[in-house]
Amino acid sequence: MCLERTDHRNPQRFEELYHNVVPGRYTEIYMDVTNKCNAMCKYCKTGQANLCGASREVPPYYMTRAEFERLHRHLLDHNIITPDCIYRIYNWYEPSLNPHLPDLFNYMHEVGIRLDMSTNAGKAIDFSRVESCENWYGILFSMPGFSQSSYDRIHGFDFEKVKANIRATMEAIRARGFHGYAMINYHLYQFNIGEVRAAKAFADELGLGLHTIYAYFNGTGGNGDYLSGTMDPLYLRDASRDLFFYHIDELIAHKEEYFREFNEPESITLSEFCNVIPCRGSNDDDRIKSIFEITSYDELHGIYEGIFAQRRKNPQYGNAWVWGHSYKRSWNHLFGFADNTLI
Ligand code: SF4
Repeated sequence: MCLERTDHRNPQRFEELYHNVVPGRYTEIYMDVTNKCNAMCKYCKTGQANLCGASREVPPYYMTRAEFERLHRHLLDHNIITPDCIYRIYNWYEPSLNPHLPDLFNYMHEVGIRLDMSTNAGKAIDFSRVESCENWYGILFSMPGFSQSSYDRIHGFDFEKVKANIRATMEAIRARGFHGYAMINYHLYQFNIGEVRAAKAFADELGLGLHTIYAYFNGTGGNGDYLSGTMDPLYLRDASRDLFFYHIDELIAHKEEYFREFNEPESITLSEFCNVIPCRGSNDDDRIKSIFEITSYDELHGIYEGIFAQRRKNPQYGNAWVWGHSYKRSWNHLFGFADNTLI
C-alpha cells in the first residue's frame, strides 16, 4: 500500500518526457521474427507458456525474407519509417530459432537497415550464408547468471554451450564487419550476484560490454500485481527468493528523473505476424490490426496516442512504466564496474 501512495506523477510531464518529437517518421521498430523461444524463464510471459506447456500447442512460425521484405517495403512506401530505421528483432521470442535468419540479415544489409538483436545464445546461429554485418546497430546476449546452476534455474541451457555460442557469434559477426555495440545483458537474481565478476572477465575477454540489470516480471502483469499488493502468494514467495525489490521505492520516488533517463524515440511494436501491438509488454494476443492496413505515420501515431491516453488514466501506470524501463540502467557500480545505459 505504501507504494500505491507514492504515485503522484504529473501526467502532462510524463507525456512530454515519454514522447520524443519525431518529424513524422518512426526511427525504431521492435518486433519478433518467430513465435518461439527455447528458454524457461519463470518470470517471463513466454517462459511461463513454455514451462506450463501452453506454447507447445502453438504451431511454429518463422518469418521469411519475402515476408520481411513486404513489411519493409510497405513501411517505406507509406512514409511510416525512415530508410535507416533500426529494426530491433526481439520482443517475446528468440530470433536464432528462425532458420531464415541469414536471409533476413542479407536483405537488411542490402537495403541498409540497422539491425539490433538480442539472443539468449542457447542455439548457434549459422553465419556461413551471412554476407555482412556492417550495418548492425548492436547485439545483446541475455544471461541469467554465469554458472550451470543459474542456467538450470532460469534458461535451462547448457552453460558451456552458451559461452561457445557467444564466442562463435562474436567471431562470425566481427569477421563480417560488425562494429556496433555488443553487450552481455546480465540479469541479476539473488542467487547469481556471486557470479558477476566471472561474467565480467568473460565479457572482457571477448571485448563485450557488461550491463547488469535486476530481473523483473516480464509481461506477466507481475509489476502491477506486486505494486498493488494483489500478487498470488505462492508466486510472490518464489519471487521473494529470486528477484530484488529494494530499489523499487527509489525508482518510483524519483520517477520524473527516470522518465527522462529512460526516454527513447517513439517506436513501432509489431508481432511476428506484422500486427501492430500496443507496446513491448504485449504480444500477438493483443494485436490491434495488421500493419498492412495502416497507410500513414499519422494513422499509426494516432493509434498509439489513443492507447497512451487510456493507459495514463491508471494511476499506477507511471510506476509500472518506470520499473519496466529500469532495464536500461545498469547496476554495474555495485560490483565496482562503470555503469552504462542501454541504447
Ligand atoms: S526472458 Fe527472453 S529468453 Fe527468457 S523465456 Fe522470455 S523471451 Fe525467452
